[in-house]
Amino acid sequence: MRSKQSSPSKRRDAATLFERLGLTTPLDFLLHFPIRYEDETRLQSISAAIPGRYLQAEGTVISSEVTYRPRKYLTARFADETGSVQLRWLNFYPSQMQQMQPGKRWRVRGEVRAGYQGLELVHPKVSSPSQPLPTSLTPVYPTTEGLTQKAIRQRIETALETLDMDDTLPQSVVDEFGLESFADAVNVLHRPKPGEDLASLEDRTHPAWVRVKFDELLAQQLSLAAAREKRRTRRAKPLLPPIARSSLADELLTHLPFKLTAAQQRVIAEIHADLAQGYPMHRLLQGDVGSGKTVVAALAAMRAIDNGKQAAVMAPTEILAEQHYLKLKPWAQALGLHCVWLTAGLRAPVKRQALAEIASGQAQLVVGTQALIQAGVQFHDLGLAIVDEQHRFGVSQRLSLGEKAQGGLPHQLTMSATPIPRSLAMTFFADLDVSVIDERPPGRLPVKTKLVSASRRSEVIQGVRESVEQGGQVYWVCPLVEESEALQLQTAVDTHEVLSQALAGLNVGLVHGRLSAAEKTDVMQQFKSGEIAVLVATTVIEVGVDVPNASQMVIEHAERFGLAQLHQLRGRVGRGTRESVCVLMYEPPLSAEAKYRLRAMYETDDGFEIARRDLQLRGPGEFLGARQSGLSLLRFADFEADAHWVTRAKELARTLRQDHPDIAQRHVDRWMQGREAYLNG
Ligand code: ADP
Ligand code: MG
Repeated sequence: MRSKQSSPSKRRDAATLFERLGLTTPLDFLLHFPIRYEDETRLQSISAAIPGRYLQAEGTVISSEVTYRPRKYLTARFADETGSVQLRWLNFYPSQMQQMQPGKRWRVRGEVRAGYQGLELVHPKVSSPSQPLPTSLTPVYPTTEGLTQKAIRQRIETALETLDMDDTLPQSVVDEFGLESFADAVNVLHRPKPGEDLASLEDRTHPAWVRVKFDELLAQQLSLAAAREKRRTRRAKPLLPPIARSSLADELLTHLPFKLTAAQQRVIAEIHADLAQGYPMHRLLQGDVGSGKTVVAALAAMRAIDNGKQAAVMAPTEILAEQHYLKLKPWAQALGLHCVWLTAGLRAPVKRQALAEIASGQAQLVVGTQALIQAGVQFHDLGLAIVDEQHRFGVSQRLSLGEKAQGGLPHQLTMSATPIPRSLAMTFFADLDVSVIDERPPGRLPVKTKLVSASRRSEVIQGVRESVEQGGQVYWVCPLVEESEALQLQTAVDTHEVLSQALAGLNVGLVHGRLSAAEKTDVMQQFKSGEIAVLVATTVIEVGVDVPNASQMVIEHAERFGLAQLHQLRGRVGRGTRESVCVLMYEPPLSAEAKYRLRAMYETDDGFEIARRDLQLRGPGEFLGARQSGLSLLRFADFEADAHWVTRAKELARTLRQDHPDIAQRHVDRWMQGREAYLNG
């Protein structure tokens, strides 16, 4: 092919394409490793060709022709002493027709396919047999449309020749951990010798990969430790238990109709211990749906109020925030505390009063939506910010609530119902301590899950009627319509209509995201009081809604929902003492992935197990949600497969930071290149 002189605009294009791959500095190129390799170091006999594998052979063109049907092709029969193969081009130049004249000798290379004319190579690479064969395997790099392997290889070659490849780790460490040197590892990965074990290079178990992964994990652990240390230099008021009187937390316990589970007691002790520190708590409270996180939050809030500080509880949706308010307010009132509700939809005078009480400190406990972190909200003295995110991780929101403090920073508690496996938390969250409620309140009956094809819809409707006749209540969840919110709304309205008719005589309600806050509250109240028997709902009920008498849930088109979402939804039933049922209605045929999800839901109702399977299905980036995926800080290591290296990296990080901060810094510089800033979230 002609080599084109690259114009300035071409070069700019290339830079943009490289950037798309995250490649800007020479170091980026050095650390851009191949996904696989091709072996062009050897010639093979044509008789050894295997479909799906590459063939590189030398031989002679026997015949060639241009055919016009069904499309214009150039084909050639190409043979060596052992056999022949067809070469085929769809787009070709006259020069290629010349090349393929019978009698010419070439070296050809391409992927073998089984075609109509026997084995063939489509668009093979053709070169002169006199060219020397390469002496190392040819790397194939991750790329993006418009960027050739050649362009990437050139930049990487330059990086290999010009960059400092000195080891960041002392020889003693390299020896102790049995690692390859950095330079060797990088060289092997970019230009492996023909004798290298291709399989272990490609499945990333080769010692060169181990070195790279270890380096990456170490850099990450070093950055995490730095972020943690940085937090400890920030100030927060220590929130201590009162001395001469009983604490509000203890008083609240005497008002509760139940005893805390052992797990609840343990996590509240962890939280109270954190609150007693002079730096801000940054703790994630995990607990499956229904595990009783709200009361833990309340007990934490009491500690702040005991210290003359305010506590705030923020939730992502109006419905969820209101559930918290309805639960927390009576508890607060029983202790003589003032609890205030704040949301965007409040009438102006009510809102003005709420804001005034928050600013004066009269509001000791504040519950609300994102409205809590909007401009104009000024806390008198916020000591503890509690964010119930359920399974939405909103780093930025957590932070801005933190900024609402005067003087020292407030302590922060985040609650989530999507358990993050420990290994994942360790590798992805900078600066987060984790408490886990791993026990359910006693006396809960497990929810029975049924998978039912949509063709049995009328039976399902009959089941709903029976549930209600036995005194229960039912959620009917409408299908997700990802493409269009309007369509989703329409589906909900239609479903409501159909069910109202099919369930004549029962009060069927409807709740969806387009209702005003007041309308939503109204419907939820009617459901809670039992006035509404069957509630047709979109996923607005997904998080936090707590109606203990609801004993059945039907989810239509369950195959469209994600695992975490299905688990959240199912968590709305089985909250009382009634035997509960969750009917997952699906529309066959199911994709393999949908089958996996539905089977998981059928097999387990343990949120931790569900999370584990969900993670397996989606990988960490998606599992953590879009917000986090930009921070997929591990490019090479796999937090699960390489878990034992995570532990070792963590230990080494501690030693290096203590004894060799200069080495630690150098290592972070090489591997993070500024990306560690993300870790401070
Ligand atoms: P979640 O963790 O999903 O937020 P909640 O805090 O809403 O769970 O608690 C679910 C239900 O369990 C609530 O009705 C709550 O009052 C009740 N609950 C919480 N702790 C206990 C306990 N130790 N014993 C009995 N019931 C409890
Ligand atoms: Mg909750």
